[in-house]
Formats: sequence, structure tokens, C-alpha cells
Amino acid sequence: MCDKVALVTGSNQGIGFAIVEELLKRGVKTVYLTARNEQRGLEAIEKLKSKGLNPNFHLLEVTDSTSVKKCADYVKTKHGGLDILINNAAVLPEHWEEIIYEEAVPVITTNYHAILTIQEHFFPILNQDARVLNISSDLGHISNLRNKNWIARLTAKDVTKADIDAFVNWFLDSVKTGTLKPEDFTQTQMLAYRVSKVALCALTIVQQGEIDRNISINSIHPGFVQTSMTRGLGVFTIEEASKAPVYVVLDVDQSVKGQYFWYDKKIKDWRNPGIPLFGDFETIRKYM
Ligand code: NAP
Repeated sequence: MCDKVALVTGSNQGIGFAIVEELLKRGVKTVYLTARNEQRGLEAIEKLKSKGLNPNFHLLEVTDSTSVKKCADYVKTKHGGLDILINNAAVLPEHWEEIIYEEAVPVITTNYHAILTIQEHFFPILNQDARVLNISSDLGHISNLRNKNWIARLTAKDVTKADIDAFVNWFLDSVKTGTLKPEDFTQTQMLAYRVSKVALCALTIVQQGEIDRNISINSIHPGFVQTSMTRGLGVFTIEEASKAPVYVVLDVDQSVKGQYFWYDKKIKDWRNPGIPLFGDFETIRKYM
């Protein structure tokens, strides 16, 4: 048994649920399954209890700062701090091949802005040597961008949160005003999601640069996984996809910081736009 406290956002189903299960099976003593909907969350808790596991539950709507603060305050009061934080909750736009402003906004809000809200309330309660893992995507690799200015700004050693905010605002403005240039991107399917995950990978590097207490912060592409997000399409089961994230938060050396992991547990160069596109929509189309 390892005497750590872990919390996974958006873990009532999908990869997050399987990560909670794997953490418990690996012997992490206190694991919070969190959900934005109490009923869905408690049903997930029951599923794990029926397998003889003992997860904890807390409500957590990642886009609501009151909910995020309440959850962080609870963990602080109950346990004194947090050792493992996995930012897993995310959404895809409903229409995969069209770029619709009303769909782009909640994607950016959930997949990027909510991470900042979580940072505000949860980073102060992280313990010495804690680990944060941001669940990104192959669609979050820098090779998804073609715009040279944004590639240079986001991959710069001194990239800032202001740069990333400017990037997501530039994207949203261009969708709103109908000025988006498809040639700025390698592919435009699921574009708001791509932008949100590129932003998340860049933010991982910024967060790592700012944090103290020997905390490690990494991101990962968990693979193409059969979940409700992919409408059941994918190569891996959620159980298979849970292994690499759990490896990063339990097994990797603490000195590995600010890296982009792949589902095979290897580190990929996130900053290299010249490698073949990760997140090729044609791969997804083959399964449709
Ligand atoms: P999923 O099955 O749709 O699960 C997403 C989870 O996030 C659900 O529990 C959902 O809650 C929750 N969620 C969404 N918005 C939330 C909010 N505002 N507050 C709190 N929870 C929220 O998706 P998944 O495929 O497991 O995805 C997990 C992570 O892997 C995501 O970060 C995704 O981008 C990433 N990823 C997935 C794939 C893949 O092939 N599946 C590939 C690359 C990356 P509800 O049940 O209430 O909707």
C-alpha cells in the first residue's frame, strides 16, 4: 500500500475511470474519483466497490471555480494535501469536421481554461514531490500547427501563459469573425480540440517552470481509446490506456519534468513541428 492521496478529474467514465481503478489496484491508499454529476459519479464508485476496491468520491465540475475550490478545500482539510493530480476531464466538439464557434468555446473552456482554475486552487495544496499529469492528445502535438509565428512562440524556451492565452484567443476570434485560415493548421478536423490540447501541452511546460516543492508536471497522449468521447472508436480499451498515465505518476523518476509522454510510456519531442503529424484524422476516419 502506498500512502498517497490522488485525484482524477472527470473520472466517472472512460480513461479517467480506468486510471482510478489502476491507481487503486497499484495500492495507492486514497484515490478520489471525481465527477461533475453526482449520480454518474456514485454509480462509478459502486462499480469499483463491486470489484472490491475502495475509491473516495467528490463532486467536481472543472469549469466552475466554486466547485474546484470546494473540492480542493475538502482535500486539504481531510488529508492535509495532495500527492497526485491527474487533469483528465475534457470534451470534444459535437461536429468533428466543422468549426462552429458555439462548440469551440466550451471545448477551450473545459480543456484549457479549467486547467488554469484547477492550477489556482489545487497547486497550493500539492505536497512536496507531488506529481501532476495533464491528459493531452496526439492532437495536442505542435505538429498540428503550420502557423510559423505560433509554433515559434509556443515552443520558445521562455513561453508564458500570456502567449498561450493569446494563442487560444486568436483561434476563437478567428472562428468568431470567420477569418480562420485553414493553412495555419495541418488539419482542421476537431480543430477547437486540437487548439485546446496544443495549449495544454504548452501550459504543462509553463506550469513546470513555475512550480516549486520538487513537483513534476508532465503531459501524455493516452492513445486512441474506445470511449464515449470517440463514440466507441479506437484501438485500445480504457484498461490498456490507463497503464501509461499511472506509470508516469507512480513509476517514472521524479526528475522527469515538463515532458510529453506517449501511450507506449516513451517521451516524444513536443517541440518538433517537423516530425510526421501526430493526430492524423485519416487514422480516425479508418475506424468510422
Ligand atoms: P470520456 O469517456 O468522454 O470521459 C470524459 C470525462 O470527462 C467524463 O467523465 C466527463 O463527465 C468528464 N467531463 C467533461 N467535462 C467535464 C467538466 N466540465 N467537469 C468535470 N468533468 C467533466 O473521454 P475519454 O476518452 O475517457 O477522455 C479522457 C481524456 O483523454 C481527455 O482528456 C481526452 O481529451 C483524452 N484523450 C482521449 C483519447 C481517446 O481516444 N479517447 C485520445 C487522446 C486523448 P460526464 O460523464 O459527466 O460527461
